[in-house]
Amino acid sequence: MGAVLAQHTAWVNAARAITALRARRMLTPTRVGGLGIGSLGRVIRPAGTPRVKARRLRALTRWILERVDGRLDRMRTAPLGPLRADLLEIPGLGPETADAILLYAAGRPVFVADAYARRILARHRLIDPRAGYEEARHWLEAHLPSDPDLFNEFHALLVAVGKSHCRSRPRCEGCALRFDLRGRRPAP
Ligand code: SF4
Repeated sequence: MGAVLAQHTAWVNAARAITALRARRMLTPTRVGGLGIGSLGRVIRPAGTPRVKARRLRALTRWILERVDGRLDRMRTAPLGPLRADLLEIPGLGPETADAILLYAAGRPVFVADAYARRILARHRLIDPRAGYEEARHWLEAHLPSDPDLFNEFHALLVAVGKSHCRSRPRCEGCALRFDLRGRRPAP
């Protein structure tokens, strides 16, 4: 649910919506899947665009109820390719959201190649600056051990570097990854 609530907003806003759902004991697929869009939207309003996210949350939770009988543990063992393809069929779920669900909720070895990751890889000349989400994801998965815990930590570290240093204008001075530039300037 956090993956949907965090779309186009800061995590702190998604976390407020999750807290509101939890306080009302609604943080289950059955409860969310059974709510009306208006009711659900009012609870998750802190995450922004409440009606859009309410529709997406309801579609996701109904998918969980139908596809894996409401059991997230089944997402840990289902064949990964078809599972990811099925998730991407849910309206409003793009690859970044689907992969966040697969990695963080299901513990599958899928890298969340978000904008922070792509920017850092491109500035270090590891991928083309025009590379899209899938190209970056494939590059990361091909160059790292296929380990969900490592992907989880690595992604969090890239986000931290992206927020602290690798912003739209890079602040390489003091950045932990500066050594990797080997004296060169970041790629534009
Ligand atoms: S060294 Fe510079 S380009 Fe590399 S991640 Fe840090 S801020 Fe970005």
